[in-house]
Amino acid sequence: MAFVVETARATVAESGCMSVPKTLRKQVVQRALNRCEYCKLSQAGQEAVFHIDHIIPEMDGGQTVLDNLALACVSCSLRKGARQLAHDPTTRKLVRLFHPRQQQWSAHFRFAGVRIVGLNPSGRATVNALKMNRLVMQAIRMEETMHGRHPPPD
Ligand SMILES: [Zn+2]
Repeated sequence: MAFVVETARATVAESGCMSVPKTLRKQVVQRALNRCEYCKLSQAGQEAVFHIDHIIPEMDGGQTVLDNLALACVSCSLRKGARQLAHDPTTRKLVRLFHPRQQQWSAHFRFAGVRIVGLNPSGRATVNALKMNRLVMQAIRMEETMHGRHPPPD
């Protein structure tokens, strides 16, 4: 059953992805240095094609323009979906998710080995909502370490 839900979500995300023109997609990938702008995973070693995330979802009026787009790995993209808010696990307050265009990654997160630590309410809420420290993600980061792709260069 969980599989069916994941598949349905993936279809929605992928169709959203297809609405981004090729040239715009290329610009987003280059600007992101080919890394997920949420968890910083490099696309270089991954089989799956990363998604182009609408930071403000299209259903909420978000446009398909560079300022509203971010490169996101499949894991982050599917978990973020159309969300803009999530609960900070520490304060339990509903806060805005990390905004890759308006905020700096290093002000919200830091790596602790293969884990990502949220440094403030928005960082913690994003780590939690996007499940950035799932065991499989930690395993991928461990493998990326061996390939010299983790942690990412500053
Ligand atoms: Zn990611």
